[in-house]
Amino acid sequence: MNHPRMDFQPFLDLLARDEKLANWASALPAQIRAGLNPKRYGDLPRWQQALNELPALTPEHIHLNQSRVGASGDITPSDQQQLREALLGLHPWRKGPFELFGVHIDTEWRSDWKWQRLAHAIAPLQGRRVLDVGCGSGYHCWRMRGAGAALVAGIDPTPLFVMQHFALQHYLRDPAVAVLPMGIEQLPEKLAAFDTVFSMGILYHRRSPFDHLLQLRDALRSGGELVLETLVIDGKLGDCLVPEGRYSKMGNVWFIPSTATLESWLRKTGFQNIRLIDVGTTSTDEQRRTPWMRFHSLAEFLDPNDASLTAEGHPAPRRAVLIGNKA
Ligand code: SAH
Repeated sequence: MNHPRMDFQPFLDLLARDEKLANWASALPAQIRAGLNPKRYGDLPRWQQALNELPALTPEHIHLNQSRVGASGDITPSDQQQLREALLGLHPWRKGPFELFGVHIDTEWRSDWKWQRLAHAIAPLQGRRVLDVGCGSGYHCWRMRGAGAALVAGIDPTPLFVMQHFALQHYLRDPAVAVLPMGIEQLPEKLAAFDTVFSMGILYHRRSPFDHLLQLRDALRSGGELVLETLVIDGKLGDCLVPEGRYSKMGNVWFIPSTATLESWLRKTGFQNIRLIDVGTTSTDEQRRTPWMRFHSLAEFLDPNDASLTAEGHPAPRRAVLIGNKA
């Protein structure tokens, strides 16, 4: 992958100068090549074309600390039209919202709401090395950087989301933020390097939730903070839903614990100082179909006659945020 608008080098240079992350930096170029292999991902040329069509524009302001992450500045209507069309070429946009030069990328998710629910409760990110596992387009990575993180490594194995990140990078140009095309299983073992690790919207997709929690712990330095967001059910200690078949039309959902069960999983995998900071039902205002994500969304995944149930009759999506420290 040698594309001028997909340049990982500034981030790799930053990692290489970091005593705790230098080893990872040397392994990454091969992983990046594998993660963006055009033989595996036939749509890559089309997405690269969309990136090529982004007009060259100079931002007057960069916005990381507001709902719509992005850049602003005066541009012509024809540049704006070209920008909108190039960005639509990277459909579907799931995590956001973003705004670039007046073009509002109204994503499927109001990911800013998730951020709002946890930002006040986490250890201040100022100067910290942060890992965001399963970061999607990298929306929260920008918010973390806006909160002062020294470096934010997002990882996500879906190449489209990496390309969407580069569309933002084309204008924001921040060497301390990256979305890397890889899954958590490709992180070096026992990295023990990050001050804060986020895992949001991932745990229920893992067949082995304990291994996932152990991998998150191993990426943290001693005393570092885990921010875990995942689906939960109402229930007591020990309760856990393992949906047979689909859950909310998703085929890859494995474990949905109660919050008490989840807390015990965290204790068992070596976390302490565990705090439940938020629980709530996901609404169809937070996850919905938009012009930037034209496929089915939460409204179609629920029972049309009873929004407290999924289409399959399971309890509708409820999410919790928990924080813990590596012992
Ligand atoms: N963290 C974001 C996005 C959650 S969606 C948020 O909370 O809004 C789940 C993401 O996990 C998807 O973008 C998917 O591509 C990614 N993912 C899937 N398998 C993964 C793996 N093995 N390691 C890391 N991320 C993974």
